[in-house]
Amino acid sequence: MKANNRAIKISGARQNNLKNISLEIPKGQIVVFTGVSGSGKSSLVFETIGAEAQRQINETQNSFTRNRLSHFGVADVDKIEHLNVPVIISQKRMGGNARSTVGTATDIYASLRLLFSRIGTPFVGYSSIFSFNHPQGMCPRCEGLGIVSSINTEALLDRNKSLNEGAILFPTFQPGGYRWIRYAHSGYFDRDKKLKDFSKKELALLLNAEEHRPPHPDKSWGKQCNTLVCSQGSKTIF
Ligand SMILES: [Zn+2]
Repeated sequence: MKANNRAIKISGARQNNLKNISLEIPKGQIVVFTGVSGSGKSSLVFETIGAEAQRQINETQNSFTRNRLSHFGVADVDKIEHLNVPVIISQKRMGGNARSTVGTATDIYASLRLLFSRIGTPFVGYSSIFSFNHPQGMCPRCEGLGIVSSINTEALLDRNKSLNEGAILFPTFQPGGYRWIRYAHSGYFDRDKKLKDFSKKELALLLNAEEHRPPHPDKSWGKQCNTLVCSQGSKTIF
């Protein structure tokens, strides 16, 4: 068959799970490889065509430079003809950081910030004020992430139970346990009172009190205290 230099011609590709594939890829147009996961799209595009093209380019360099270029192994293929110089854009996933977006990854975001800082009303002049990743620009409630994680206290409590009956549903707060004792024997609560009968003040102490040492705890409050922080008597998780 007459060689068609308007196409890349691959003969006998066997890289990874490719089964001795031969095909032509037309040049000068967009070609999409599609197929189910594991069908060999990456093996063909990246590990065969891309690797071979990169290897050929690397070979044009002297050995000093070649040793410093990344190595792409030799693709398992009989022959590839009419290969172009490739621009390989890797498939690597973007980092999972919530502060990375399409905008930050492409840098469009930086241009938009600049644009808004110059033509926005009121005029501020500082592009960082338009950054959701900058303390001056971020929304104070969600700190620029667009979502707020908070604790659903109702899921942690059974208000029909008393502390003695295990009203705090979080696993390490089982009655008699160390953390339960820190609350139940703090001297603040009637351990047999159901949470639904707690006063507002009692509930506030149970749920939202700042870290502190209760002034009149029961005797058992300090008994199981064997952590470093606790034995120093300086701070107690309450
Ligand atoms: Zn927000």
